[in-house]
Amino acid sequence: MAVPSPLYGVFDYRWKQHLPIIPGSRVLVPFGRRSVTGVVVDEIEQSSVPESKLRAVHKVFDTEPVLPPDIMNLLQWASRYYHHPLGEVLSSALPVLLRRGKACELAEQEFYRWLPTTSDTEHQKGGAVQQQLIACLRERKGQAVPAANLRLISPRWRASLKALIERGWVGVEQVSQLPSNTAIGEAPNLLAEQADAVDKIHKCLGKFQGFLLKGVTGSGKTEVYLRCIEEASARGLQSLVLVPEISLTPQLMSRFEHRLSGCLVSLHSGLNDTERLQNWVCAAKGHADVVIGTRSSILAPMPKLGLIVVDEEHDGSLKQQDGFRYHARDLAMMRARDMSCPVVLGTATPSFESLNNVRAGRLVELPLRQRAGDAVPPTLALVDIRRRKLIEGMSDRLMDHIKSHLEDDGQALVFINRRGFAPTLLCNDCGAAADCRRCDAHMTVHVRTNQLRCHHCGSERQMPVVCDSCASENLDRVGYGTERIADALVEAFPDVRVARIDRDSTRRKGALEKQLDRAISGEARILVGTQMLAKGHHFPKLTLVCILDADRGLFGTDFRSLEHMGQLIVQVAGRAGRESRAGTVLIQTRNPDNPMLQTLVKEGYEPFANVAMDDRKMAELPPFSFMALVRAEAVDAREAHAFLLQVAESLELHKAGTLDVMGPAPAPMERLGGRFRAQLLLQSNKRSTLNDSLFRLSTGIDQLPGARKCRWSIDVDPVDLF
Ligand code: ADP
Ligand code: ZN
Ligand code: ZN
Repeated sequence: MAVPSPLYGVFDYRWKQHLPIIPGSRVLVPFGRRSVTGVVVDEIEQSSVPESKLRAVHKVFDTEPVLPPDIMNLLQWASRYYHHPLGEVLSSALPVLLRRGKACELAEQEFYRWLPTTSDTEHQKGGAVQQQLIACLRERKGQAVPAANLRLISPRWRASLKALIERGWVGVEQVSQLPSNTAIGEAPNLLAEQADAVDKIHKCLGKFQGFLLKGVTGSGKTEVYLRCIEEASARGLQSLVLVPEISLTPQLMSRFEHRLSGCLVSLHSGLNDTERLQNWVCAAKGHADVVIGTRSSILAPMPKLGLIVVDEEHDGSLKQQDGFRYHARDLAMMRARDMSCPVVLGTATPSFESLNNVRAGRLVELPLRQRAGDAVPPTLALVDIRRRKLIEGMSDRLMDHIKSHLEDDGQALVFINRRGFAPTLLCNDCGAAADCRRCDAHMTVHVRTNQLRCHHCGSERQMPVVCDSCASENLDRVGYGTERIADALVEAFPDVRVARIDRDSTRRKGALEKQLDRAISGEARILVGTQMLAKGHHFPKLTLVCILDADRGLFGTDFRSLEHMGQLIVQVAGRAGRESRAGTVLIQTRNPDNPMLQTLVKEGYEPFANVAMDDRKMAELPPFSFMALVRAEAVDAREAHAFLLQVAESLELHKAGTLDVMGPAPAPMERLGGRFRAQLLLQSNKRSTLNDSLFRLSTGIDQLPGARKCRWSIDVDPVDLF
């Protein structure tokens, strides 16, 4: 039995004799003093636990496995590969309600349908929310729409909808089977490279093959996915599409709904527990033809799975950063192999891992070199800001460009990957910065809420009026964030609307959608934002992109900083000129001669990646070697350190081959949320060496004397070293 607990290993229980033992089904078992939901792993004849100590299963929930054999295999493999306890791995694959013992079946759910009898003239009345609800329902041409879609519109959707139902404009239905969608949009003719990609993927339906769909931004990758999904559906196969959290906006969902017939479900954090269970069951019972979801959907059972798409495969959000630290792209490869189906990794800026997999022949590359439609690629230029007068961090040249693009009826995006007003509050008299009391970090100034906030642990306090150290009132806000840049732009261009899009301005439900709508419609002429703006969005009117803080990536502490900088610049740049008007991208820098920046701007992502990868190879860093981090944190720094020393010793004893063990060393940010963090870096040029060493380590790690004095975790293939 696998039980959700930080302990490695599985546990034996006495079975209720009259019921069959079904691996992958849920049971209620006693565990310590509690009762927990566990998952049956296997039947055994004889336990090594003496009969008198063997506890009995309390209750059997299922007569069929909730986790079918293929998912059980995948999760057992993942538990071994990531060295994470099987009980927690299995539990993380289940929707919350199944963990709590709810029945694994489709329940009745409300759907809403626009009734065709109503006259057009009446509909203009009512508030903005009502108008959006009407637009959303009408657009579906009388097809049933689930609550989850309408909720994205506004937190006040229910009241407005009620009014529409009372007026007899909208019908309500209770159904347990999710209704089927009917495609209403037309498909464009494919370009030659698109057709070639589609053809190659079609030929591999029914067998395992990994593809890297490497298409510049706007080259029509989504169109390729849609054609492959259509073909899979036609053959009675289910498709799974993984997307970054932030791109799961109504824009993307409605694009899929327009083009695909059949049952489409989504799995993401915007669903409530009931909806999540409903959609999950729909996938698991084979009803859903297409599942579109974020990272964790890679663990959803799909009996007829025939195609996996990983969109934006370079995106960091595919890696789970706590608990069971899996990488959804890597699990997608494993799962596709198990299920004998193709997996398509799509991106304009491939991760170095995937580029290396192409070189090694593990992935077939499908290039899309041209933008679809009339769009031409944007031109990139560096703006040297050394010795230039800056207005709130922006050079006069930048401001002139924004002005002329606005005059030409264009739209401008100003990108700065920092939210808040200013990253530091500095005392002019004693030089002290306002620091977080719990982290080794400065607090960020937030003017809108008159607060200081720590972006690492979330601590907040009132904006101080005097310096903490010397009580001087002479405080300076140093550096720039989105709030400050947006204010400066409002001042410089008082006649146009500026939309700020970052985690702060979009916290309320529906706020992101509203801001994106303004950006897409062109109502907002200047957009200011963080990396939230970099991914997947299509702003038809956007002609100018300005990147303010590219230099940070050149001097990052992490070996992946440069790769991430290149990806971010190219992705943000890709928002410009996606329709008929050409786009311009300006990158402010104090290092205009930097060879990497030069290569990126003049030659593009691929040559940039090749040079950067050669450096990685020389330095024997991933993907040319394999890494794992053992992290530990404790209230007392010495305890984390002492534990990692024990881990290092144990590794020394159990080493399987050439394994470099570096540290223990303090984490790059040692103190976070009041706890001290340290880490041990393991590296080997052979995957098996790393894996075997970790396996030997993990069987005894919880017995080490220091293990109970700190929180620790193992991170295989870490994406950042913090
Ligand atoms: P990507 O996903 O590569 O960024 P999209 O799939 O979003 O690109 O395509 C960009 C735009 O080009 C979209 O508006 C899409 O409808 C359009 N498009 C895609 N393929 C074609 C095609 N073959 N002919 C005309 N327009 C296309
Ligand atoms: Zn001071
Ligand atoms: Zn903090």
